[in-house]
This record gives sequence, structure tokens and C-alpha cells, in this order.
Amino acid sequence: MSVVEERHAHDLLAALKAQAPEFIEVRRDIHRHPEMGYKEYRTSDLVAERLQKLGYRVSRGLGGTGVVGQLRRGQGIKTLGLRADMDALPIVEETGLPYSSCMPGIMHACGHDGHTATLLAAAKHIAGNVQFSGTLNLIFQPAEEGLGGAKKMLEDGLLQQFPCDAVFAMHNMPGLAQGHLMFREGPMMASSDYVTITLHGKGGHGAMPHQAADPLVAGAAIVLGLQSIVSRNVDPLESAVITVGSFQSGSVNNVIPQQAVLSLSVRALSPEVRELLQKRITELAQAQAQSYGVSAQVEYQRGYPVLVNDPGVTHFARQVAQDLVGAARITPQGKPLTSSEDFAYVLEQVPGCYLLIGNGSGEGGGHGACMVHNPGYDFNDDNIALGSAYWSLLVERYLQG
Ligand SMILES: [Zn+2]
Ligand SMILES: [Zn+2]
Repeated sequence: MSVVEERHAHDLLAALKAQAPEFIEVRRDIHRHPEMGYKEYRTSDLVAERLQKLGYRVSRGLGGTGVVGQLRRGQGIKTLGLRADMDALPIVEETGLPYSSCMPGIMHACGHDGHTATLLAAAKHIAGNVQFSGTLNLIFQPAEEGLGGAKKMLEDGLLQQFPCDAVFAMHNMPGLAQGHLMFREGPMMASSDYVTITLHGKGGHGAMPHQAADPLVAGAAIVLGLQSIVSRNVDPLESAVITVGSFQSGSVNNVIPQQAVLSLSVRALSPEVRELLQKRITELAQAQAQSYGVSAQVEYQRGYPVLVNDPGVTHFARQVAQDLVGAARITPQGKPLTSSEDFAYVLEQVPGCYLLIGNGSGEGGGHGACMVHNPGYDFNDDNIALGSAYWSLLVERYLQG
């Protein structure tokens, strides 16, 4: 990097730090008024209003509460998409912060308040200060938490109305030091599938098991058998998770129940392993049930796909980060995560990069290491300046005139 570029990165960080207090207020305002997926009415109003004032062409209604702000400049034909998520979670907040949720039982416990405020901060700086040539699309999506808002926006024509040559999204990461950015080429987040196994047996008197077909014992064997799929069927160098999160059967000690129901969460980091898990879980549940004289009905519901970062685009995104904060604050090829993310649907259609920004390691008594989805979690406001500086530099570089 040249001295001029270094100076530029330094000035950019300083400018966005100076501008940050306004957006820290925005973030805390959104935090105080969290909204569940597809119900981000207040939040999307706030986003749309700000984008409009900044001169963006604003489109609403994609995915219900989704908002897209578009800015075109110069003759450039390149197009770029940056995405933030807006929804909160059904959690009772326990942070005790002055800007705690005023909505009972709803909380921004994943930092989407921060992602939205960060992209708005970038929107302001870019509109006023960044030279580029091409089309910038700022995508504010609803319902990331399990409801697939990104998929809904795609189905509603997101990429037809707002074509993007590349797309980017940023998520905060507790445990990663503030000021640090993490990248990964290839699979970064797992697919997430839901399975319900219903075992139909023959109920009876607990004293006369020989006259019944016990679905509870069959269920217990299935819970143990499922563990062998990860240990015996999946390549040891690949990753897979099978979690039986719920097993419901029976109600009293002396009655053999008619039915048992198991609910599973299944994760993989490659489409091949995902296929294998589906095949083996179905086969094993059915065969195991049969061996106990009961029948198994397996409902396999596919959730978010594996999130795969494009190597070329990730290389570019990483270079931008390195020029902004220096190599010492970059994790160039971090470990993948077994959690999932609906930005994966967008990355199935457009090359792009999903990156992580450190929310803090918790050193010095900070709360930054508190994991997302915990009632004590809070977004680190220092990330608004860094995140928006990163978005600004990325736009400038990607949409060079
Ligand atoms: Zn989350
Ligand atoms: Zn999240």
C-alpha cells in the first residue's frame, strides 16, 4: 500500500469515527424498539426515511418489510450489493442497559440493530464523500432469524430489479477482538435442516410390555444410533452435527405410550455431507424402528443452505480490510461456523463474501464476548465507525471509475 493510500485509510477511519455518534444513537433507538422477522415496520420506516434524505432511490416491499436504497453515479456498469439484516429475537433482555428493549419478550440479541445502523452510517458517508462510478444497492433485509427473509427478497425479484455483480454482508462476532475482521474462502456457515421423527407403536399396560410395541424404547435406540452417523458415515475430515433437541413420549410410569416424537437439528458444511445426513438419518430411523416393531415417519425440512464465499471476491474483500486496519487485525482464513445464515441463498446466485467483525473479546470487563442470542448480549458500538469505514472503502474500490 502506498503512503497516499495509507493516509486515505487513516482519514477515512477518522471521518467515520467523527460521524459515528449520530449512528450510535440510531443503533440504540433501534435496540430500544426491536421487531420480529417480517414485522420490522418501524425499523424499515426509519431506514427508508434516512436513505431517501441522503438521495438514494428507495424501494420498499421486497420480502414484505425489506428496503433497498440505490445510488447510481457516473457511466460505470458495475453493480454492487451490501446487505444488513433488521430483525430481532424472542428473548427477554437482561442487559440492564439504559437503552434496553421496550418491547416485552423481544430483543436485538444478534446485533442486527448494529448491522443496520452501520450500513446507514456508510450510506451517509458514501452519498456525501465517496467517488465511484456504477450502481450501489444497499439491501436491508427482514427476518434473518430462521424465517429466510433473504430468500423471500430473492423470490420477490431482488436480483432482477437490482442486479449485483457481487454481494457482501457483515456480521458481528463475540469473542473476536473489536477492531478485527475475519474472512474465509469457501464454506463458512453450515446448512441447517430440521427433522421430525414420529414413531408409531402400540400402547399398553406398563406391566405387560410383551403385549405392546414400545415407541419410547425404539426412540432411545434411535437417539443413540444417530450418533453413529457422524462418527461412522461422515468422512472424519468433514463436519456434521446431529442434535436431538427434543424427545417427547409418554406421561406416566405405568403406561407404554402409543407414540414418540424426536426433533433434530442437522448441520453440514458441504452439500454432499448434507445429502448423506438426510439419507442416513432417514434410513437409520426407519430400520431401527422396524427392528423394535414400530413404524417411523420422517419429515425432513431443509432450512438455510451452506454459506459459500467466492474465493476471488473474498480475496478482494480481505485486501480492502487489510488496507484499512492492517494485516495484524485480519484473520485471513478463519474456521467455519456450524451456525447458519440466510445470506447463503444470495451467495448461491451471486458471488460474494460474508465477513465477521469482532464484537470484542471481553477483556477488561467488557461485555463484547457475550454470545449472540444470549439475554446479556449487546452490539459493540465501536463497530459502527469501523464497519462503515470498511463499507465505504469497499464501495470506492469495487466501483472505481
Ligand atoms: Zn442470530
Ligand atoms: Zn445475526
